[in-house]
Amino acid sequence: MEGVFLLLGSNLGNREEILNQAIAALEKKGVTLVSKSSVYETAAWGKTDQQAFLNQVLQVKTEYSPKKLLGVIQQIELELGRVRKVKWGERLIDIDILYYHDQVINQAGLAVPHPGIPERRFTLIPLVEICPDFIHPVFQLDQKQLLEKCKDHLNVSVVEDC
Ligand code: ADP
Ligand code: MG
Repeated sequence: MEGVFLLLGSNLGNREEILNQAIAALEKKGVTLVSKSSVYETAAWGKTDQQAFLNQVLQVKTEYSPKKLLGVIQQIELELGRVRKVKWGERLIDIDILYYHDQVINQAGLAVPHPGIPERRFTLIPLVEICPDFIHPVFQLDQKQLLEKCKDHLNVSVVEDC
């Protein structure tokens, strides 16, 4: 299957503005936006005593290898002033590689498809919006099927005016 998908997340500051800044920063580094999901708001996952997250899935086109793309993403996280305090803690911006075509990568520091996909409604709901038929290369299920099987029940709602 063809398609590179990224997940943006922010739960600090002007969250919508930060998502847009991340998209602009990706494009500036030659990562082209193909499509983007709506923006969704989700109660913080794993840690519940912080501001809710905004999440958005992007489909992008890139010549970067997965490893190089991870480097670019981490550079953008730093540039946008990410605050890394505790695991699952507050952050201005988190960018994850969800899928890189049908590649399966299990290296130190890089797992693709992202291992959290099947258990996270905040990832699956935007994926179903923009690529419902994309097949997970390990589980051989599409995004709709993954969402049906997902046991996460955190509320994920569209932010209308984004
Ligand atoms: P999380 O995204 O799980 O909340 P972090 O953003 O702090 O946590 O990421 C921790 C590490 O995850 C990064 O240093 C990166 O090397 C690693 N990582 C492994 N697979 C991926 C992936 N598919 N996308 C982004 N980061 C990944
Ligand atoms: Mg991350």
